[in-house]
Order: sequence, then C-alpha cells, then structure tokens
Amino acid sequence: MYGTVKDDIAATLQEINDAGLYKNERELTSPQSAHVTTLKAEALNFCANNYLGLADDPAVIEAAKKALDEWGFGMASVRFICGTQTQHTALERKIADFLGTDAAILYSSCFDANGGVFEVLFGERDAIISDELNHASIIDGVRLSKAMRYRYRNADLADLRAQLEAAVAAGAERKVVVTDGVFSMDGSYAPLDGICDLAEEFGAMVFVDDSHAVGFVGSGGKGTPELFGVQDRVDIITGTLGKALGGASGGYVASHQEVVDLLRQRSRPYLFSNSVAPAVVAGSTAALDLVESSGEKRETLARNTELFDRLMREAGFEVLPGTHPIRPIMFPGEDGARRAADIADHMLGRGVYVIAFSFPVVPRGKARIRVQLSAAHSEDDVRACVDAFIAARDAVG
Ligand SMILES: *Cc1c(COP(=O)(O)O)cnc(C)c1O
Repeated sequence: MYGTVKDDIAATLQEINDAGLYKNERELTSPQSAHVTTLKAEALNFCANNYLGLADDPAVIEAAKKALDEWGFGMASVRFICGTQTQHTALERKIADFLGTDAAILYSSCFDANGGVFEVLFGERDAIISDELNHASIIDGVRLSKAMRYRYRNADLADLRAQLEAAVAAGAERKVVVTDGVFSMDGSYAPLDGICDLAEEFGAMVFVDDSHAVGFVGSGGKGTPELFGVQDRVDIITGTLGKALGGASGGYVASHQEVVDLLRQRSRPYLFSNSVAPAVVAGSTAALDLVESSGEKRETLARNTELFDRLMREAGFEVLPGTHPIRPIMFPGEDGARRAADIADHMLGRGVYVIAFSFPVVPRGKARIRVQLSAAHSEDDVRACVDAFIAARDAVG
C-alpha cells in the first residue's frame, strides 16, 4: 500500500525544488550534434560530451545500420551464456591495442565497469586510495568492496603521500591509487606523472578512469596516460564509449591479462547484465577507427577550445585555466549561483545551450557555467557562444 509514502515523496520533491536543485530535462527533437532542436527552438549545443562530433557521424551511423542487418538488434544474453559475437571480442582487442594494455573487457557502461572492478580485486586486507573528486560510479564501486578506504584532496600529491603512508601503516597488502583522468567540473587533469611516482614508491597500483579523455586527450587520443607519458605505468584504465567514442553507450576496463581474465569470472555487472547491443558495438568500433586513423578532429577540437578560451578572457570572463575542452566560466561569490543560472537561461533564450552548476555539485561560492567544446562546432559557432555570453551578461548585469 502506497499510503503516506506518497506524501513523503512529494515533500522530498518539494525540498529538491525549493533548494533550486530540481533537474528539468529538455527534450531534443533532433540527433545529438553541434546544432540541435528542442521543442521550443533550435539551439547551439555546448553541453554535450560529444567531443569529437562522432554522435551523428555518417561513418559511425552507417556501421551501426549495417550491423543491424548483419548482427541483429539485440543479444538477449549475457556474455558468458550466448551473448558474445566475434565483433564484441574484436572491439575488446581493439580497445586494448589502442590503449596499449594486455586486454580489455566491455561493460554496458563505464558506471558498470567502475561498479564491478573494485570488489573483485580488493578485499579487506587491501587499501583503495581515492581522489575526493572522483566520479560517482567510482565512489559506489569502492563502497561495494571490503577494502580499507582512504581519500586524498583533489590532485594533491602531498595528501596522497600522507594517505599512502596511512595505508602502509595499517598493513594494507594490495594498494591502489584511484583517480579520474579529467575532473569534469573543472576540466583539469590528474597529475598522473606524480601519481605514478608515488604509487611506485609505495608499491601501489594505479587506476585511471579516462572517460572524459579517451579519443581526444594526448597526441594520439589515447588519453591522460599518453598526455603524461605514463601509459606503461598505469595498471587499470576504465572508460566510456558514451562520450567522445560515438556517444552511444558501453564502457570498458583495460588492464593486465590476469585482471581482465578475473573480471570475466567474477565481476557482477559483467556477469549479470546484458551484452552491449550489436549496432552499438559496430558504431563504437567505427568511432575508434576514426580516432586511430586521423588526428583531424582532435586538432579541430583543440583549435575550438583555444579560440573559445581566448575570446572569453578577452571579454573579461573568468575562465578556469586549462586546455581541456571542458571550459568552466566562473561566477564566484554570494550571488554567483543565481547569476550563472540567469545567464545560462538567457543564453538558451538566444539559442545557445549551456548549463550552470552550483552547490552541491560544486563547492559553495564556486558556481560556474560549464562549456564543452566539440570538433563539430564551427568557428562561427564558437564565436556565437561567446557573443551570447556577452549579451547575457549585459542583460543580467
Ligand atoms: C561519464 C563518466 C562515467 C559514466 O560513463 P557511462 O558509460 O555513461 O556510464 C564514469 N566515469 C567518469 C569519470 C565519467 O565522466
């Protein structure tokens, strides 16, 4: 019987709304792209993770269409029963070769990959040392394991050292340092060279979730380990196919052979959730082919990012420093959250889609509008976004 639960839930929803935290979903009436249409109007999209513009790339769509005929619509099975097609195995091989690891294993999402990896590898005698800003799926995955947990301040190597010392003092056997490659609210990189040095000093493994980097960070698009020159020093890499690599869905763990072999035997989201759909496997494979065969989209993305950053600074906005296509525009102070929200609303009115973030998603007093550049944007698109920022600031004050 639903009974008073109805009123309780309604009150919770009201609290969320009163706190200004209610998330309304805007429905698109078009494919995901640099230009999208919503029920109300056309919009220039600056809030997708479509970094390389592959979400509606013709070659990716064609590969997925062909796969529907060749491989069918669904697998109706988990991998180990009868859900493995040759293309699933081939994509795993391709991801491993691309990232330079022994092997890789596909999941339905990176959320599942992170949810399924820690419990298998780290038990109660072990220690997980995790960056405080790591993605929600890492936090949940770490919770599912019985390992001792240590948290270090974001990208702070001195604090990481202190936590590693604490883990050693507690007698931890296996130790692993866990970090996002890119922190998505700041567009900043984890200092992977320093992290690998410390891990080596303390005999710890290194785990990097590179979801916001794979495909476009590093000269070959191989991600933050490539950017920092530590590809052969990272033990476990997780990532998503749902961002730069076509943006559909799916995730992976790329690692040493034994790690991947054990995940296939023991990782619960892998064992008990359906195989990635055939068309998604084929489209993601085509996306990875594009990433491997040409740096052109990466270069366009870098150019767009630089242009946006420069024009915004020239216009007097406070942009967090960095080179990642996540560019946060800061609105500090007491009324920052309100101003960021008003400016984002005003910009949407002018057909530019950006999102404001405030507490508790980011620290109090550090409200921001997070802009995400894409290789699909033209130079005019980038300039239009900056113009919309300026007009909105004039209007909002
Ligand atoms: C987006 C993201 C995920 C989740 O990926 P999905 O494949 O959408 O589940 C996990 N980790 C990080 C760091 C992410 O940015």
